Amino acid sequence: MQPFVYNALPSRVVFGFGTLAQVAEEVRALGCSKALVLTTPQQRASGEALVRQLGDLAVGLYDNATMHTPVEVTREALAVVESVGADCVVALGGGSTIGLGKAIALHTDLPQVVIPTTYAGSEATPIIGQTENGLKTTQRTLKVLPEVIIYDVDLTLSLPAQMTVTSGMNAIAHAVEALYSKDANPLISMLAEQGIAAIGRALPRIHANPEDREARSDALFGAWACGVCLGAVGMSIHHKLCHTLGGSFDLPHAETHTVVLPHAVAYNTDAAPEAMARIARALGAETAARGIFDLAAKHGAPIRLADIGMKEADISRAVEIACSSPYWNPRPIEPAAIRQLLDNAFSGTRP
Ligand code: NAD
Repeated sequence: MQPFVYNALPSRVVFGFGTLAQVAEEVRALGCSKALVLTTPQQRASGEALVRQLGDLAVGLYDNATMHTPVEVTREALAVVESVGADCVVALGGGSTIGLGKAIALHTDLPQVVIPTTYAGSEATPIIGQTENGLKTTQRTLKVLPEVIIYDVDLTLSLPAQMTVTSGMNAIAHAVEALYSKDANPLISMLAEQGIAAIGRALPRIHANPEDREARSDALFGAWACGVCLGAVGMSIHHKLCHTLGGSFDLPHAETHTVVLPHAVAYNTDAAPEAMARIARALGAETAARGIFDLAAKHGAPIRLADIGMKEADISRAVEIACSSPYWNPRPIEPAAIRQLLDNAFSGTRP
C-alpha cells in the first residue's frame, strides 16, 4: 500500500425515491425555519411547488441561478436573502443552482439543503467557481460545503436524454482524474471505480428509456460517488482544459467535459497505467480512452469541440492559457502534445 493522506468531509446524504418529501424535516433538523428556495428559470415550476410544499418554512423563491455563478447574480440573490430574512437556502437543480447556494453560504454562512437534479456533483464538494468580468476563479473552502444533500431519483427522470449523457460524462471525469490524482488514496479510488461503473452501466439504459428507474438510481448514485472524488482530491489536465474552455471561450460545461475527456485520458495513458486499467475495467472496455469515447459517441453526445461552439482559430490561445498555470498532471504538460490533444478533440477523432 502506498502512503496516503485522506481528509473526510462532513455532510449528510439522504438518497432514495420520493425523498423530496423529507425537505421540511431536514430544514427543521438544521434548526431553521425560513428557507429561501433557489432554482433556475427553467425549473421555476418545481421551485414554486417546493415553496408550496414547505408552507410556513419557506420565505421565498429566487429563480435566476445562472451557469458559472456570475457575481452579479449572487449579489441580487444576497439582497433577496436579506430582504426576506432567510436562515437557510434550499437549492433545487443542477450545478448552477447549487453553485448559487454555495456563493450565498460563502458570504453569509447560511446552511444549505441541496437537491441535485443533474449528475454534476457540485453538492459533494467544498469547491466554488465564480465568474466576474468574464474570468472564472475557483476556491476550496468548507464554508461552501452543503450540510445536507437530498438525492431524489424521481427528480432526475425529467433530465433530457442528451443532458443525461453529457452530465454523466461530467461525473465520470471527476472519478477518472481522481484515479490518477497526485493525492489519490485507496478509499477514493474504490469509490471512483464504482462511480464510473455505475454511470457506465446506467447511461445506455437511460438512453434507451429515460424513465428506467433502476438505471436512474444507479446514475444518481454514480454522480454522488464521482462528486465525492472531486471534493476529496486534486484534478489534473482534463479539468484544467475544461476550466479554460468554459471560462475563457464560454463553452457549455457538461458537453465540454464529454468531448475533452477521452483525449485527456489518451494523453495520460502511459503515465498512469494502474488508473487506466481500473477505468477500462469499470467500463468493460478495451482501453480507458476508447471506453469513454464510445460511451459518449454511442449515446448521442457531442464528440467534437467544433460542434459545441469552439472556433479552430482559438485553439492556440486555449493551449497557451491551459499551459500557463497548469494543475499537477501525471504526464508533464507538453504544449505541442496539448495542441494535438485539442486538435483531436476539435475534430472528434476516436483515440
Ligand atoms: P445546470 O445546473 O446549468 O443545468 C442545466 C439546465 O438543465 C438548467 O436549465 C437546469 O435548470 C436544467 N435542469 C437541471 N436538472 C434538470 C432536470 N432534472 N430536468 C429538467 N431540466 C433540468 O448544469 P450542470 O451541468 O448541472 O451544472 C453546471 C455548473 O455547475 C457549472 O457552472 C459548473 O462550473 C458547476 N459545477 C461546479 C462544481 C463544483 O464542485 N463547484 C462541480 C460540477 C459543476
